[in-house]
Amino acid sequence: MTINLLDYDREGLADFLTEMGEKPFRARQILKWIHQSNQSDFNQMSDLAKNLRAKLSKISVITVPQVTRDHTAADGTRKWLLSVGSGNGVESVFIPEANRGTLCVSSQVGCALACAFCATGKQGFNRNLSVAEIVGQLWLANKMLMEKNGCQPPAKTRNGILDPQPVLFARRVTNVVMMGMGEPLANFENVVTALNIMLDDHAYGLSRRRVTVSTSGLIPAMDRLRKRCPVALAVSLHAPNDVLRDYLVPVNQKYPIQDLLAACQRYLQDAPRDFITFEYVMLDGINDSVSHARELIQLVRDVPCKINLIPFNAFPGSEFKRSSSESIRVFRDMLMQAGLTTTVRKTRGDDIAAACGQLAGRVYDKTRRSTRGKLEVI
Ligand code: SAH
Ligand code: SF4
Repeated sequence: MTINLLDYDREGLADFLTEMGEKPFRARQILKWIHQSNQSDFNQMSDLAKNLRAKLSKISVITVPQVTRDHTAADGTRKWLLSVGSGNGVESVFIPEANRGTLCVSSQVGCALACAFCATGKQGFNRNLSVAEIVGQLWLANKMLMEKNGCQPPAKTRNGILDPQPVLFARRVTNVVMMGMGEPLANFENVVTALNIMLDDHAYGLSRRRVTVSTSGLIPAMDRLRKRCPVALAVSLHAPNDVLRDYLVPVNQKYPIQDLLAACQRYLQDAPRDFITFEYVMLDGINDSVSHARELIQLVRDVPCKINLIPFNAFPGSEFKRSSSESIRVFRDMLMQAGLTTTVRKTRGDDIAAACGQLAGRVYDKTRRSTRGKLEVI
């Protein structure tokens, strides 16, 4: 099998080079070529000896998934559908803002955890993405953003204030959220290696605070993540009690709320930020009442956290409705009055189905769940 160098973090690349009889420090040069210069042709790696370049091209490749669709929404959000073989496709989404560009990255083809309100969950599961397929999303995004507008930085006025329409300018990815398709902590080893590459100064050089893993609450993996690669953590809570959470996020039956909150406390001992983000999808008539808000306030009392309310995004076949703006406002105000930092996530790119929970890609479901449900695969 041909080796894809995009599968390696610095340590893996150094081991690979040592096995070839080369100096391990070459790993830094190669990482820079691949991830900082978007170079996939060994012949262009001018500071590597010619015979090393020749050896590398004989036994290895640098390949990323193929972009099969590229859509830009009215608000500048851009979504790519990437083909990952055997008819499967995953999506990644770039969200440009005035002072940052966030890439929402997928970690699996589908998801086995079957949350009731999630398009990916409804589709069933096919397989984990490889490291190259995860990091390849970042590699491709930077490349495509550069191509489209010639990589112009946001225009600045004389006093250094950003142009009021920076959204029109393509930039590099400055933040990553593992909030695309799949449960990142169910693909633990590949995700950790991919995170190492994102954080490496010789690759993407993102700070731990700018890389967020979102999990539905796989407790043992949360404990391993804090030891192996503590990045910012978002936890999909979505309900203030076990009865409701068992229904909305079925993995709660295995890892119930009190255990999850204890795992959050442990995570904070190593986390790069001094809070956990709790995500809470706002579902009309399901989890958005005044008494749910009261229950939530009591529940998270002892965990340093921020709450991110996500208005539900509909998708073909979804059985829920988004909470009204009024109930979201009341819910948010109650949390804020109780001293909880609360934000309502802006819905970005919903005209191209790029908003949270709308990512569907193309999943050939091995669990056959999707054929039992009524979701139509896009
Ligand atoms: N599997 C991980 C990360 C991917 S989903 C997780 O569950 O945390 C990213 C976020 O979008 C999660 O909080 C998820 O619960 C939320 N989400 C899923 N479906 C949604 C939908 N239809 N509308 C709004 N948010 C949704
Ligand atoms: Fe999987 Fe996350 Fe969707 Fe749940 S919300 S089904 S864990 S991707």
